[in-house]
Amino acid sequence: MSAYLITTDAPVNDAVLNGIAHIPTEYLPKLVEPGFFKKLGDADCLRIATWLAQKSFVEGGCPIGAVIIDSESRRILGKGHNTLGQENDSTTHGETAALRDAGRAARLRGEGPVDFRKSILFTSLTPCVVCCAQICHRCHFEAVVIGDITNAPSSEAALRAGGIRNVKVIEDARAVALYREYLQARPEQHFLDWGGHRKLDEAIARGLGPDGWDAPDHRGGVAGTFEKETDELTLRADEG
Ligand SMILES: [Zn+2]
Repeated sequence: MSAYLITTDAPVNDAVLNGIAHIPTEYLPKLVEPGFFKKLGDADCLRIATWLAQKSFVEGGCPIGAVIIDSESRRILGKGHNTLGQENDSTTHGETAALRDAGRAARLRGEGPVDFRKSILFTSLTPCVVCCAQICHRCHFEAVVIGDITNAPSSEAALRAGGIRNVKVIEDARAVALYREYLQARPEQHFLDWGGHRKLDEAIARGLGPDGWDAPDHRGGVAGTFEKETDELTLRADEG
């Protein structure tokens, strides 16, 4: 009898993917047979991120989740969700939570800083400017897969301009519906998370309606910054 809770021949369905979302990352190698992860397609990994977003929503937080996998073995290196609401922490986004979890899990294995260049980041909502900076300048992921560009302006172009060659959008209907539900139920949290108290005050002055989405422009500002830095790097390479 297998010692694994989830074996290679277990079905890939929402119940199992939701279970994986809730298992602490360091326990996954003990509980999930490696062959199971090999079966997971990009949409399945994205669904795990969406279940993490759902977990955050249930806790009273912002529903954005993220999962980082090794691109070859497809095992999960880290995962997490936004905790602005839960911890009053504006820096812990879905993507940064997954990065922190990956670092912590590696440390528990006795390893040093994680090299993300052969890994894939899945995020339930298109990354914000803070996370784009981490993804492009610090982590250099092999690929980024985005689950929702309906509820926020896509950061696809900014990620490409920042050097991420493989950016895929696979909208997850559940992720899109969940973030829409959040926008309608708790718009004040949304505005606070994306634009701080100034943006929240402006939104309140407008009546905080569900259609009051007023996101910072990911495409203009961030892409411009990345292009400038790319030029500087090119110049330096030419000089060298
Ligand atoms: Zn972010």
